[in-house]
Amino acid sequence: MLGLMMDKPLLISSVLNYAAKYHGGTEIVSRTVEGAIHRYNYADAEARSKKLAQALQRLGIGDGDRVATLAWNGFRHFELYYGVSGMGAVCHMVNPRLFAGQISYILDNAEDKIVFADLTFVELLEQIAPDAASVKAFVVMTDEANMPDTSLPNVHCYETLLAVEDGDYDWPQFDENTASSMCYSSGTTGNPKGVLYSHRSTVLHAWAAMTPDMLNIAAADAIMPVVPMFHVNAWGIPYAAAMAGAKLVMPGAAMDGESIHAMIEDEGVTISAGVPTVWLGLLDYLERTGKTVEKFKYCVIGGSAAPRAMSVEMEEKYGVHVLHAWGMTEMSPLGTVNWPKHGMEGESDEDRYNRQVKQGRPCYGIDMKIVNDVNESLPEDGEAFGELKVRGPWVCSEYYRGEGDNHDADGWFATGDVATIDSDGYMHVTDRSKDVIKSGGEWISSIELENIAVGHPGVFEAAVIGVTHPKWDERPLLVVVRNEDSEVTAEELLTYYVGKVAKWWIPDDVAFVDELPHTATGKLLKMDLRNSFEGYELPTG
Ligand code: AMP
Repeated sequence: MLGLMMDKPLLISSVLNYAAKYHGGTEIVSRTVEGAIHRYNYADAEARSKKLAQALQRLGIGDGDRVATLAWNGFRHFELYYGVSGMGAVCHMVNPRLFAGQISYILDNAEDKIVFADLTFVELLEQIAPDAASVKAFVVMTDEANMPDTSLPNVHCYETLLAVEDGDYDWPQFDENTASSMCYSSGTTGNPKGVLYSHRSTVLHAWAAMTPDMLNIAAADAIMPVVPMFHVNAWGIPYAAAMAGAKLVMPGAAMDGESIHAMIEDEGVTISAGVPTVWLGLLDYLERTGKTVEKFKYCVIGGSAAPRAMSVEMEEKYGVHVLHAWGMTEMSPLGTVNWPKHGMEGESDEDRYNRQVKQGRPCYGIDMKIVNDVNESLPEDGEAFGELKVRGPWVCSEYYRGEGDNHDADGWFATGDVATIDSDGYMHVTDRSKDVIKSGGEWISSIELENIAVGHPGVFEAAVIGVTHPKWDERPLLVVVRNEDSEVTAEELLTYYVGKVAKWWIPDDVAFVDELPHTATGKLLKMDLRNSFEGYELPTG
């Protein structure tokens, strides 16, 4: 017997429609690349997203066509998220930090028909345009006054396109499993692979993201995604904020400590989310200026491991609680967030900071397990570690065009992360499977060693890689960027590990560098680091 309830499809347009109706006056504030701060509200955003949908129709975009964006977090990008998906086309967020060759590959693989770009990326597009065979038109996301002189063929101005539309448009209704948007996975090896989200997966993910044990977003909040909209949907915040009716603050291209601090304070931001590097910048700015933050309560940190020292500094100096989160492009992206459970009220500060090092628990909708080399499940005792597998309604079932596959016969997706899961369900990423250091047949967690190193006051950033060793196969080498004015020595750093990890985990040596290589999404590029330290002679070798 079937239930007798309404079968209303979960469509992205319904999220904005809700925000416009019930939180129409709530602000969306953006720092634009043209310089000024732009303000409007959810009602304005829906009206303009409808005009955008009309403009797309006029440009020949139909159901399922891919429309690419190369843009920062801002109100026009927000309109593209809703206007493109809402009309039944696929919004493809391209990461402009990738190499031009990779961007060409991605545009070609997705067969994008139109590319929308912020002013900042017009030059980059000019390089790529001759190879972009599928692209029929380019749109610069600005007004007439700021339109650049450009060699781009068939180029339009965003504001001019919208100006001729009347906004008299009803969002079409269709199957919630229709493709809505896509992102390519960062892929530190091989070509990036397309992840194709659906309306249903996006709405369910946003619903989950809003809940108290995930991003905890309420209508009274002001949330600022520093994590870019071109990377993993800004962790779903452009959807979840609208669903909650929260004020949305978009930092644009300015992600330095001073600009982030200004947005937090001027706009009364209560929750923000970003990768650890961004928060290093903010903490450094606060330390140098003696400034504080007033309403900022929760800082969601993910994309790379949030070091313990960062949670301690945020909490003790500035009263900001760190929420360690983990996810992937393939997971929309949220998998886990670290909140306490009932019964943990009495936990000491030390216990809390130790817990916060873990990436957290999944919410309803995500199922996880860890497996060994032959795909047997391992105990969830906080000790055993193995490859982390996941499944759920906002996890990809395959890659676009069936390229590569990380799914097993039972449909679990292999994340490529190595982790432990404890009896309370808290997951702790110990490494990427290709970064784990294999010493004498045992595994050493590079992330844990890095976390400890950045706890030393003389260390700005640290990476630990495996270096070939004649006896042990591999041994850890700590690569460090010192803090300005720090003269910390290798010996001091190695001594710092004593008592914090097993003796055989302590790195064999320390190398000091001016900077560490990062991927386009801010993760340590360990492959490059391993290449530059190839043949490195360890003192123990
Ligand atoms: P991306 O698809 O670019 O978001 O990359 C996903 C990968 O980032 C994951 O598979 C992890 O390796 C890494 N990652 C994300 N969040 C964390 C975290 N909190 N701690 C450690 N690694 C993380």
